[in-house]
Amino acid sequence: MARYRDAVCRLCRREGMKLFLKGTKCFSEKCAVEKRNFAPGQHGKDKKTKTKIVGYGLQLREKQKAKRMFFVQEGQFRNYFEKATRMQGVTGEVLLQQLERRLDNIVYRMGFAMSRRQARQLVRHGHISINGRKVNIPSYQISVGEEISVRDRSREMSGLLAAKEFNSHQTPPTWMNIDRENFKGSVTQIPKRGEINVPVNEQLIVELYSK
Ligand code: SF4
Repeated sequence: MARYRDAVCRLCRREGMKLFLKGTKCFSEKCAVEKRNFAPGQHGKDKKTKTKIVGYGLQLREKQKAKRMFFVQEGQFRNYFEKATRMQGVTGEVLLQQLERRLDNIVYRMGFAMSRRQARQLVRHGHISINGRKVNIPSYQISVGEEISVRDRSREMSGLLAAKEFNSHQTPPTWMNIDRENFKGSVTQIPKRGEINVPVNEQLIVELYSK
């Protein structure tokens, strides 16, 4: 599968907001959005001061923002949308629910990684189990009741311990049951839109793909 290999902070600067792709750096003064809050590239500064985005441009930016936040490629993001149109419920909400139910996102939400990118690496490298069986597919859709855990032999990893410590005071999502001490948890219900903490206007994404 294609992977984004450029500097990820450029993505935040392009969207003009923090997408939290780098872990601790995102919370420090070294964050590129804090230091250079204008679009990357030669004319980045011009774009910030002169361009007012409306219509199609606004819809496009909203889609790019969501896609980059969850760090998925265009084809995969489009597939989530197509699937959402065939499922019961409000399309935009179902789209976000699918993104939230990705295994890498769940690991991130549980506080075992500092960013979704780090969570994806944990999954890819085989550190995560579902109901006791190793699963290394970041896009795996978690179902209600499945137990997600960090494998025993991976629990002493420094990155994981640092993430656990960092997130120990964060309030867990209401739709999850998390046992951080024992590195495990589960999804107790599919989250409603109000429980999905993602600053995206999903209706604009639906409008964009519906043209
Ligand atoms: Fe984005 Fe984090 Fe880089 Fe800041 S440090 S620009 S939030 S990825």
